[in-house]
Amino acid sequence: LVSRKNKPEDSVVNVLGETIGDGKQRIIAGPCSVEYYEQVDAVAKAVKEQGGKILRGGAFKPRTSPYDFQGLGMEGLKILRDVARNYDLAVISEIVNPADIQEATEYVDIIQIGARNMHNFELLKEAGRTSKPVLLKRGLAATLSEFMNAAEYIMSQGNGDIILCERGIRTYERATRNTLDISAVPILKQETHLPVFVDVTHSTGRRDILLPIAKAALAIGADGIMAEVHPDPAVALSDATQQMDINQYNEFVSSLKQTYPEL
Ligand code: PEP
Ligand code: MN
Repeated sequence: LVSRKNKPEDSVVNVLGETIGDGKQRIIAGPCSVEYYEQVDAVAKAVKEQGGKILRGGAFKPRTSPYDFQGLGMEGLKILRDVARNYDLAVISEIVNPADIQEATEYVDIIQIGARNMHNFELLKEAGRTSKPVLLKRGLAATLSEFMNAAEYIMSQGNGDIILCERGIRTYERATRNTLDISAVPILKQETHLPVFVDVTHSTGRRDILLPIAKAALAIGADGIMAEVHPDPAVALSDATQQMDINQYNEFVSSLKQTYPEL
């Protein structure tokens, strides 16, 4: 179902009147984790001012250590929703448990399935039974074929509104948090009819190279990019070393707009 062989034209995903995959490139931005109302509010304001339409924020966090901040859960989704309503933004957040999918659809406009859950087939199927768009991230060590099959799981349940997201894969290289597989973008665009995003934050784990990486992603034909922004990254409860602060985000988007004025 995801193959371009059977559907030659691009699929366009509609999110509250915003279109993804129609040739116009988009930015999804927001904090790694939802922490408190004012934190999300500060980021949402910047996202809105920079012309963004979609706010991200993790409420269910798949952390490496069980002793790290696990997210605010449904409370976090409510904060995200409340803030987004004030700024007329759409909301995307990761859901990790199939049992939470239905309830989460009351708060999110896009369901995110994280890299660690790309192979969680029950979660994929549950997301496929909703009518919400799904942003599916590539697994940490997933081949493109496995990635496309994961999307197939969602679509097989009737939900065709899927955005693929390349977020870097595990390699021996430690200079970046993950290795961005830039060739995934044109391959996925060629082999599927789905929109393809690049998460510039998790693929690099480095604020200092976000701009060239984002330019590369947009130049190679990504339908959009995802980036993490926090009012005070140093004290963030997750991913403190890689999030941009609000000034950095403003500069980041302004620089990108010099080459991509439509952004
Ligand atoms: C995220 O986007 O919050 C996240 C955890 O990313 P990934 O699943 O790509 O690691
Ligand atoms: Mn993060």
